[in-house]
Amino acid sequence: MPRLEIYLQKIRHNTRTVVQMCKQKGIDVVGVTKGVSGMPEVAKAMLDGGVCGLADARLRNITKLRSAGIDAPIMLLRLPRLSRAASVVKLTDSSLNSEWSAIRSLAKESRKIRKPYGIILMVDVGDLREGIMFHHVLRSIRRNIAITKMHLHGIGTNVGCYGGVLPSEKNMGILAQIAGDIEKQFSMPLSVISVGGTNCLPMVEKGMMAPRINQIRIGEAILLGRDSSRNAVVKDTYQDAFVLATEIVEIKDKPSEPIGTIGRDAFGKVPVFKDKGLRRRALVALGKQDVRFAGLIPTDPGMKILGGSSDYLISDITESGVNYRVGDEVRFHLLYAGLVTVSISPYVNRVFKEDIK
Ligand SMILES: *Cc1c(COP(=O)(O)O)cnc(C)c1O
Repeated sequence: MPRLEIYLQKIRHNTRTVVQMCKQKGIDVVGVTKGVSGMPEVAKAMLDGGVCGLADARLRNITKLRSAGIDAPIMLLRLPRLSRAASVVKLTDSSLNSEWSAIRSLAKESRKIRKPYGIILMVDVGDLREGIMFHHVLRSIRRNIAITKMHLHGIGTNVGCYGGVLPSEKNMGILAQIAGDIEKQFSMPLSVISVGGTNCLPMVEKGMMAPRINQIRIGEAILLGRDSSRNAVVKDTYQDAFVLATEIVEIKDKPSEPIGTIGRDAFGKVPVFKDKGLRRRALVALGKQDVRFAGLIPTDPGMKILGGSSDYLISDITESGVNYRVGDEVRFHLLYAGLVTVSISPYVNRVFKEDIK
């Protein structure tokens, strides 16, 4: 089976780097575990590294964290389903919300089990995923807050997820301004002004975040040391805390164009090929069932991923400096899409490592 090596010491280091940078600007870091489907060992490494709490998009992942004995504050990132309000309050300490019907259910559950609960109201500053549109927020609170019988713990926003909108002084400023307006108009102090994710880090580093913003939700920078929204790496972090390793099962010289009439491939696409003559190809025991190929970077820069099917990855090793043989191990670094998919595959073994190499 392919093996996912997880270097916990590197995750701790990446966490410390991010936490220290944000702390200098008065911002707490929440460690986001959805990229590793709530792997408790990784969550603990984030806590060791100094995050103030954890966050995940799925209750199932959060259940896993709680079952592993983690009692740190946990935030639910995805809007709660009304039908799961009781579990949400039981398992988490806060959640991101945009619907008053859901907020009312959470408030009711929290009173029922006498557990204080943090409602963070999401403000959409333009990315057009979740949240109340920024110019409607005050009106919306005025209409609903009394019936809810619950104070807001804070407000938050998310950028760069659907619309690809980057954080700016303008859109972050809008959030901070709304926070001030809410506190004034409703005499309701807000504990948390939350932004995310990794794409907000450069603004924090440059000291461009509005001073009111005091929490940032970070996954990618901690797990992978990367900011994919800018195709950049994060300073003083490891990009190889996760390594996917597997074996070569065939090496043959083959033409670069298939022979015969081309139909659809295993995933319904009509493939296109360029004639580059005879190429040396290695078939690797790793399939699209296991991982999204676009999220893989071979550690051998001479190896090119050509494509594959459910159970094979096909690579071109003609230009590699390595003299591969069948049975040799090949290794890949991961991008977010690769990590998310590989961490839920039952066909991949996980091996936790403490060394740094
Ligand atoms: C995934 C997610 C984050 C973390 O984003 P990264 O880019 O992985 O740092 C933060 N907030 C929300 C709401 C998310 O869904």
